[in-house]
Amino acid sequence: MKRKVAVIGSLLAILVGLALVLGRGAIAERAFQSALDKNVGVDQSAKLGDGLHAYVCGSGSPMPDTDRAGPCIAVLAGNQGFIFDSGSGSVRKLGRMGFPMGKLQAEFLTHLHSDHIDGLGEALLQAWIAGSRGAPLPVYGPEGTDKVVAGFNAAYALDQGYRVAHHGPKVANPAGAGGAAQVIALPDGVDSQVVWDQQGVKITVIRVNHAPISPAFGYRVDYKGRSLSISGDTVYSPAFVTASKGVDLMFHEALNKQMIAAMGKKLGERGQANTAQIMTDIQNYHASPEDAARSAKEAGVQALVLYHLVPPVPATLIEPLFLGNAPKQFGGTLKLGHDGMIVSLPAGGKQVKFSDAW
Ligand SMILES: [Zn+2]
Ligand SMILES: [Zn+2]
Repeated sequence: MKRKVAVIGSLLAILVGLALVLGRGAIAERAFQSALDKNVGVDQSAKLGDGLHAYVCGSGSPMPDTDRAGPCIAVLAGNQGFIFDSGSGSVRKLGRMGFPMGKLQAEFLTHLHSDHIDGLGEALLQAWIAGSRGAPLPVYGPEGTDKVVAGFNAAYALDQGYRVAHHGPKVANPAGAGGAAQVIALPDGVDSQVVWDQQGVKITVIRVNHAPISPAFGYRVDYKGRSLSISGDTVYSPAFVTASKGVDLMFHEALNKQMIAAMGKKLGERGQANTAQIMTDIQNYHASPEDAARSAKEAGVQALVLYHLVPPVPATLIEPLFLGNAPKQFGGTLKLGHDGMIVSLPAGGKQVKFSDAW
């Protein structure tokens, strides 16, 4: 502690000294220059190495949260990038994390609830401009994905025109704007199916249970012997467990029912009947942290990261309350996801490495 105080003291002294010698303007100029050299145009993903890398671009839910964007997990598998759901604010997080948009191959939607698609317009725009696309981004998802993509394309048509006119077709190639829907139709009785199999990357769609929203999907990604699965929104789902057997890393949604019930009670007492009722309704189509732990245990995964956290968990102090008995039920690595988290599964290894983009 004493040492820490001494170090902070010395740093402050150096800063005060520099400020006296150079003036605040010169320090700001140097700080800006250093940030420029370090970050702008640098491919931050290059240092990750070959493997499967998962970017937590949105660990939140529809509830307001200062730190968490809406649901989003992006995956980099070798040279191929994918985004699974684009909740509100998640694309800006992805940009801040240094995700290489130029490698983006496709977007995959788990289902069409608004909190999973309300950042899709921004994702398509970034894929087009930052990704220098010459063809619309394929957007895979359940029945209805064609309507959603057509809606975003229509909503952004004017903006696309402005950008082509302003930047020119070399920078904003009109042929690359927007999305191209790829509706996944899982036949009745089929719970999983490979929907992407290119250059060593395999993506499997999984039917999950988010009734009455149907169909709702989870996904599994395999690359060079490493694997991960993403639940989307679901209650405990045996089909998701089966399709996730042996993955290194599982992302699972989680809702703490006791906390939500307490919030509903308080809202009712304060005369907010509608939102109180919603707190009751949402409890029957989400998984608890214990359900997620059970899925991870039964699937035999190495690490479990919870995301789509309901309610928001603003401080580490609240974490044990949110997790309940989950840590007792799953013996592997268990973490609450947070925006900026990158989980790496190096090719040819067994490790699950956690790092932070900021
Ligand atoms: Zn949902
Ligand atoms: Zn949701």
